[in-house]
Amino acid sequence: MSINDLFGTNVFSDAVMKERLPKETYKSLKRTIEMGEPLEKTTAEVIANAMKDWAIEKGATHYTHWFQPMTGKTAEKHDSFISLTPDGRATMEFSGKELIQGEPDASSFPNGGLRATFEARGYTAWDPTSPAFLKEDSAGVTLCIPTAFYSYTGEALDKKTPLLRSMESISKQAMRVLKLFGETSSKNVITTVGAEQEYFLVDKKYYQARKDLIFTGRTLFGAMPPKGQELDDHYFGSIKERIANFMRELDVELWKLGVSAKTKHNEVAPAQFEVAPIFSTTNIATDHNQLMMEIIQKVAMRHDLVCLLHEKPFAGVNGSGKHNNWSLATDDGINLLNPGKTPEENARFLLFLSIIIAAVDEYAPLLRLSAANPGNDHRLGANEAPPAIISVFLGDKLTSIINQIEAGDLNIEKQVELLEVGVSTLPKLPKDSTDRNRTSPFAFTGNRFEFRMCPSSASIAGPNIILNTIVAEYIRRVADELEKADDFNESLKKVIVRLIKDHKRIIFDGDGYSNDWIEEAARRGLPNLSSTVEAYTYFDKPEALELFERHGVFTKGEVVSRKEIVFEEYAKIINIEGLTMSQMVKKQIIPACINYMTGVAESISKVKSVCPSVDVSVQEEIVNKISKLLFDVRVKVADLNKAIEEAKSISNIESMAFAYREKVFTAMAELRIPCDELEKIVSEEAWPYPTYDELLFRV
Ligand code: ADP
Ligand code: MG
Repeated sequence: MSINDLFGTNVFSDAVMKERLPKETYKSLKRTIEMGEPLEKTTAEVIANAMKDWAIEKGATHYTHWFQPMTGKTAEKHDSFISLTPDGRATMEFSGKELIQGEPDASSFPNGGLRATFEARGYTAWDPTSPAFLKEDSAGVTLCIPTAFYSYTGEALDKKTPLLRSMESISKQAMRVLKLFGETSSKNVITTVGAEQEYFLVDKKYYQARKDLIFTGRTLFGAMPPKGQELDDHYFGSIKERIANFMRELDVELWKLGVSAKTKHNEVAPAQFEVAPIFSTTNIATDHNQLMMEIIQKVAMRHDLVCLLHEKPFAGVNGSGKHNNWSLATDDGINLLNPGKTPEENARFLLFLSIIIAAVDEYAPLLRLSAANPGNDHRLGANEAPPAIISVFLGDKLTSIINQIEAGDLNIEKQVELLEVGVSTLPKLPKDSTDRNRTSPFAFTGNRFEFRMCPSSASIAGPNIILNTIVAEYIRRVADELEKADDFNESLKKVIVRLIKDHKRIIFDGDGYSNDWIEEAARRGLPNLSSTVEAYTYFDKPEALELFERHGVFTKGEVVSRKEIVFEEYAKIINIEGLTMSQMVKKQIIPACINYMTGVAESISKVKSVCPSVDVSVQEEIVNKISKLLFDVRVKVADLNKAIEEAKSISNIESMAFAYREKVFTAMAELRIPCDELEKIVSEEAWPYPTYDELLFRV
């Protein structure tokens, strides 16, 4: 089948709807999708029926409301289309009501106290802006309906609802500004997102022999093999056949779901890869990224591979992230972050650019926390990772323009590539200011910003909710000011200059990984929040609450509950890691070392009995070293267990999470050191689980 025929075959797409729905129904649904008009009951009835017929023709027997609870994963509860007739036969039914609303018993999803168990009901509601699709595998075909998930009292229990709210807010505010520029053809502004997904693949047989990978998704132990990523021979290297086969199947599965997988390549670390789709609206990009993570894992299994989505599965080589490429566009296709051709377009571009710079500066802690999770704590601000400081990269040309604007010197005739352009006296901007700086967490890349801090395993909803909301807030402030202005062009210039003057400290084009930058950033007063728990203390600060409530993105209750969920999840994850470590030490590492050491010791007496004068210093040295290290292990595993017990007993959830970070996490790092040393001494056959060598270099 050609890609053309394949693409979107499992999607109840716009084209399918156009073909299968009566004209009036289609139009009315389009109004709901594009203008947010409420969906009529009768319309829903017709759509449900058409959707069901389409799904059944393609082999579906079940449907599910597909939602995104606070676990960061997706959830589904399957119902069959079956309905019974009075004479005992089965018919296939699917009503408008079943399409629009579901009521999963959802008391077991994290809710941070928002829904008491006696009121366990959670509701799912169809999000018509994201198309329904079919999940198809050897177990059958299921119709999946993307839904929002909320409580009896209307509070969001998921990641989709606040995302949709944030998109609405930024659209509303951006339209105000566009109006001032005389833009009349656009009806709304959307945020576009393309999320590049990084992941590791390991051989299933090695994965299954490691408790740490099974329980925590990362290796808790592991000595570096002689080779890591230092030769840069994996990045963009030719793709091995086994992996290429996996990738081909992955593409096909994604294409069927309408996920536009476009780019795939080897990443920096051995056994690390990336796949990126063509960008789409944030909501769909988020749904698609969730699907992508699920499908990568599923397809990997078919190839006897296991996909690791964890941010730092291996110490000593790069971790995985997700680059969130983000821009603003009008519904009629104008990218607001594209430097324009006319003075008006340039002015508009520079305004949005300075708005984003200002928003990122003022709300840096919120942006930072939106990319925080326990896995990412190993990537941001840890010892082998870039710092956790938010800064903005603009590139040489744009920075020089910004500097001139700030200096009040908009006349830039002296620069060859840049031309002075009359009326608004704003410069004509260079095209294609592509970014060569890979160390910036928030980089302008020619027609979009790339937020590079996002964790590989998490939903991109969180970062985009924050990005949309903080930018919406600055657009609002600017619109308030400009709507009152007598001379629009004059005020516009003043606003741009002021925003840049006030927020210039966030712009940094140098090496974001250097130690100098950490000091420089501190001098500039930029926050450096190196852990999830630290970052999340900013989530419910008064200025954050005010921001969220003003834009209708989160209620105070939703913020408080989400913060609680994060701290609770953090504590649970570190707890699982700590216990896994402790168990592996006691049940695997110590016994293996004792066995090996005993064998070596026996060899000493055996060899000596045959030949008393022989030199056995090699054996003695091994026995000595192992004993010393085992003593160290004994002390440190006891420290770890004590730290876990202490953290567990703390009742305040925030203090508990901090204890896990400050005590348990550090005790784990301490325990790892002698264990990795032991791995280097004990023979390969005697070591109780596969090593980095096998995990990283045998796929
Ligand atoms: P790189 O690795 O150089 O960053 P990739 O091609 O891997 O580039 O990824 C670029 C991503 O940016 C793709 O997902 C692409 O669709 C996305 N992108 C391009 N233009 C926009 C835009 N205007 N808005 C959002 N995302 C965009
Ligand atoms: Mg990128």
